[in-house]
Amino acid sequence: MKRFSFSINSSFIIISVIFMVMITALYVQLGRVIDQTNKEVNNIEIKRAYNLTNKIILHIKSELNGDISSILSSPKSREKLNSFLSLNVTDEFKYIYVISRDKKGVYRYLLDGSYGADRGEYRQKFFPLLKELWQSSFNSRLPVFGFQKKADGLWLTYLHSIRIGGRVVAVLALDISTSEYQTLKRLLVPLREFLKIFLFVLLVSIIVILMQIYMFYKERKKSIIDPLTRLYNRNYLKEIWNRINLKKTAILMLDIDHFKSVNDKYGHDVGDVVLSSVAKRLMRDTRLEDRIIRYGGEEFLILVKWPKSDDEVLQIANRICKNMAKEKIRINEDMNLHITISIGVNLNPQRDGSLKNAIKKADKMLYIAKNRGRNRVEAT
Ligand code: GH3
Ligand code: MG
Ligand code: MG
Repeated sequence: MKRFSFSINSSFIIISVIFMVMITALYVQLGRVIDQTNKEVNNIEIKRAYNLTNKIILHIKSELNGDISSILSSPKSREKLNSFLSLNVTDEFKYIYVISRDKKGVYRYLLDGSYGADRGEYRQKFFPLLKELWQSSFNSRLPVFGFQKKADGLWLTYLHSIRIGGRVVAVLALDISTSEYQTLKRLLVPLREFLKIFLFVLLVSIIVILMQIYMFYKERKKSIIDPLTRLYNRNYLKEIWNRINLKKTAILMLDIDHFKSVNDKYGHDVGDVVLSSVAKRLMRDTRLEDRIIRYGGEEFLILVKWPKSDDEVLQIANRICKNMAKEKIRINEDMNLHITISIGVNLNPQRDGSLKNAIKKADKMLYIAKNRGRNRVEAT
């Protein structure tokens, strides 16, 4: 609509959008830091696991001296090797064990460095969780590893085959808890989660606020816009009353000539069509910054803003008046009405001291225009 610009508080929206973009960027950045940290931590763990498994395998091999079956069937030798594995068990490298696989594909414990109830007994069946990883560990010359998510965090399973005479006899396994390294993650992940929730809450709040602004403007629009002509009504005039700068405004008071007879002759509905057509023409013939107010039934007040000169205001008034008389108003296919209007102009409202007096002056000029024959402009 030309006369009523639906402007919601744009600075609020701009600030909200900037805020949301910043938080989103922070959220994404945090995600990257977490991923990067994960990668680096894993690299460190894998390197350490590689060194440790090599050391253990060397030791086991030297103990076995090329013969796995005889030495492992001796409880004493097993105990010695288990103790050696236990020596390397830490909070981080929590489980260190050796698993064999028979022809049927059954996995069994050979050695286990863990303590207490966790310890897998010799020949006890072992059920791997990362099945494929275990299968590949028996076929691969290189160590393999995989990750498992457990209740207490991420675990790295690192498997390195033990070969004697080129044949894989067992696999040395390390279950590594990465929890020691998760401190940063423990801080960052909740922060990231918090940001996610914050973003969501922010988004919902913005939507709610925007909806309220929309409702407010919708209501406001209803209260200041005349439904028939879509022009401002007198509520709007009241609203802007104190803001009107008389120095920078000219006032036009318009009244449709003999409008009563239009109503009498053609009925109220036709009168309404005439009113809305007149309103459209007024919008067309004025500038965007001018304010047109339906002041009375068929009276309109136009506040011409920032007039450059008296001539410019008179030009506007005369243009409105002439166009109104020139173009007939189309009521329906068979009916066009010729309408004229009279306009009273107050070129210099500042003289009158107040808006009320200035409007009165324009009204007086309108009265004069009516008396001097209508369809004319009278200005002072
Ligand atoms: P004048 O040239 O002296 O202005 O003559 P006039 O007939 O226009 O006289 P007046 O201004 O007194 O007439 C106002 C008429 O406008 C009376 C009223 O019925 C009509 N009117 C006011 N509001 C509406 C409206 O919303 N719809 C219609 N159809 N008529 C309206
Ligand atoms: Mg009137
Ligand atoms: Mg009239």
